[in-house]
Amino acid sequence: MDLGISGKWALVCAASKGLGKGCAAALVREGVNVVITARGDATLQATAAELRALNPAVQVLAVAGDITTPEGRAAALAACPQVDILINNAGGPPPGDFRTWDRAAWIAALDANMLTPIELIKATVDTMAERGFGRVINITSAAVKAPIDILGLSNGARSGLTGFVAGVARQSQLASHNVTINALLPGPFDTDRLRGTMAGAAQKSGQTVEALLDARRKLNPTQRFGTADEFGAACAFLCSAHAGYITGQNILMDGGAYPGTF
Ligand code: NAP
Repeated sequence: MDLGISGKWALVCAASKGLGKGCAAALVREGVNVVITARGDATLQATAAELRALNPAVQVLAVAGDITTPEGRAAALAACPQVDILINNAGGPPPGDFRTWDRAAWIAALDANMLTPIELIKATVDTMAERGFGRVINITSAAVKAPIDILGLSNGARSGLTGFVAGVARQSQLASHNVTINALLPGPFDTDRLRGTMAGAAQKSGQTVEALLDARRKLNPTQRFGTADEFGAACAFLCSAHAGYITGQNILMDGGAYPGTF
């Protein structure tokens, strides 16, 4: 299927690794020019080179910076000639016990996982509407639908973003101008983030990381973790010309782990 987005420009935040990289790769394969960001420049440049190799016909620009800061966002936006597609992503907050989180911990989580995507939406959607095409994908988490107790910072901040988007995606000045805003909710995907979380759990439990990973895989109906490529493919479809009637949705990608009918 031709997704009909060749030649568009996408800003893909936090994309040197993992799910963000998967989204950037899928868009590049579809002929979309991308600006990718991450804090660490060396990995970011290596990823940019990989993406260029995937499709030499597109432009791949790499902007190193912290997307949760005003400077990081300004640099990313300035590098993108126009933002037709916005993929909001950033690192997830650390796990822990809410009794130990102070105001600074909450503000950091809100900045990264709620206010940064809102700022980027604010900076881009009205010009998308003027051009008659826009796609925003927020990478959130399955924890929005099925909260995980030790990820309270993530549960809280991402639910705030989800509530905000539920309203704004339905504004007719956006939806009637072919601007859609949706969220992809990842369950367990095989990325550095997942392995890092498991490494912490392994230290506490005295089990090996591999044993914990194996046990976690077996909990999922698919008996495996998702891949960044699968995540990217779903993202690219939601960004496609064919997905203009899907907006304000929260799409769970968890291998069927969530046990509800809806
Ligand atoms: P990952 O493999 O650790 O990759 C994170 C990427 O984001 C890296 O490129 C990282 O590069 C970049 N990044 C992190 N903080 C950033 C910042 N402040 N500014 C710019 N770039 C930043 O993580 P992932 O698994 O892809 O996760 C992506 C998001 O999905 C996270 O919010 C995570 O919590 C959420 N999620 C993941 C899973 C899963 O199973 N993987 C499940 C649910 C939710 P630098 O470190 O160099 O900046």
